Amino acid sequence: RTRTSAELIEAEGPVLAHNYHPLPVVVASADGAWVEDVEGRRYLDMLAGYSALNFGHRHPDLIAAAHRQLDRLTLTSRAFHNDRLAGFAERLAALTGQDMVLPMNTGAEAVESAIKVARKWAYDVKGVPADQATIVVAADNFHGRTTTIVSFSTDETARTGFGPFTPGFKVVPYNDLAALEAAVDDTTAAVLIEPVQGEAGVVIPDDGYLTGVRELTRRAGCLFVADEIQSDLGRTGRTLAVEHEGVRPDVVLLGKALGGGIVPVSAVVARREVLGVLRPGEHGSTFGGNPLAAAVGTAVVELLETGEYQRRAAELGVVLRGGLASLVGKGVVGFRARGLWAGVDIDPAIGTGREVSERLMREGVLVKDTHGSTIRLAPPLCVTGGELESALGTLEKVLAG
Ligand code: PLP
Repeated sequence: RTRTSAELIEAEGPVLAHNYHPLPVVVASADGAWVEDVEGRRYLDMLAGYSALNFGHRHPDLIAAAHRQLDRLTLTSRAFHNDRLAGFAERLAALTGQDMVLPMNTGAEAVESAIKVARKWAYDVKGVPADQATIVVAADNFHGRTTTIVSFSTDETARTGFGPFTPGFKVVPYNDLAALEAAVDDTTAAVLIEPVQGEAGVVIPDDGYLTGVRELTRRAGCLFVADEIQSDLGRTGRTLAVEHEGVRPDVVLLGKALGGGIVPVSAVVARREVLGVLRPGEHGSTFGGNPLAAAVGTAVVELLETGEYQRRAAELGVVLRGGLASLVGKGVVGFRARGLWAGVDIDPAIGTGREVSERLMREGVLVKDTHGSTIRLAPPLCVTGGELESALGTLEKVLAG
């Protein structure tokens, strides 16, 4: 007998670490923008795996690429070359306007890798005295969960109980160029920021901030590292969120959607002067750049090369923004949106973000709360205008009680 959703949720309790608080839905299958639970109830996925499913669940081109590769070669380690990696790196570098690629697996690994590369660059190229390099980051950042990354988190839940922490980071307010200017000095290896702060609630900086960061880091002779792991690959209506200001960082971090929702694929993409500092033996990953990941990643790049997903996100973003604007004052106290991505602040009188997410779930729409009163909308970029309007209609209904 297959177990019911309730039984499966119950069964997790004693055997799974409690580091998440999932909505009480047990997904068993999915297609495009839709998922189905164990009992066969269908839900519109308005979270898309925190942007890891930008192309929807099981996109046919991506599944086909994975199948083809599964039948040929899945893993070599980097002890040997594999015949898929060069093409992946060439196309990813071209797509993002960079020179070189360091393939990794998860987002946090890409961030960790960029921290190491930035420090090495600071010592080898900039001439910072040994062990003195600093990296300037923004308050309310989210870059992942490893010990070094939570060392510069400003979220106490993410940090408390996990010290001692890695030194060498300075935190300044986000969207504040004067504070950044004051924090940067001769020891600064890099400024590491998210072009849009996803986990913080889809916080979009003022126009000119990213340009300002670019100019400031160039003047100061340090690297601009953009963590695009959640904002990348079409989500905001452009391939990269920095493109909204026509900015080219020295280092861009990609993840989530790069694996097409099939395998974990992340990458550090950068200028040759920067990634070129790594020598054999100084960094690595058993799975990073594996042929299955490279094949799926290449198929993802192919989807983006058409521009279709970026265009859809930009066009449907107008629908999303319009729908949310009409809900302000009707249970929504404010929202921030760019492309198919929005942080929606719920009137606390109506309920917490969690309560609203649970009500939406019961109405067949999956979203997730962040920071108490905010819900995040990030549907797959294959969602239709009709599906999006229907989800907004459900939100209106739920907010109206
Ligand atoms: N960086 C950003 C901007 C993210 O949003 C995330 C995940 O939410 C990460 C890094 C970490 O990625 P992962 O969970 O794959 O380690």
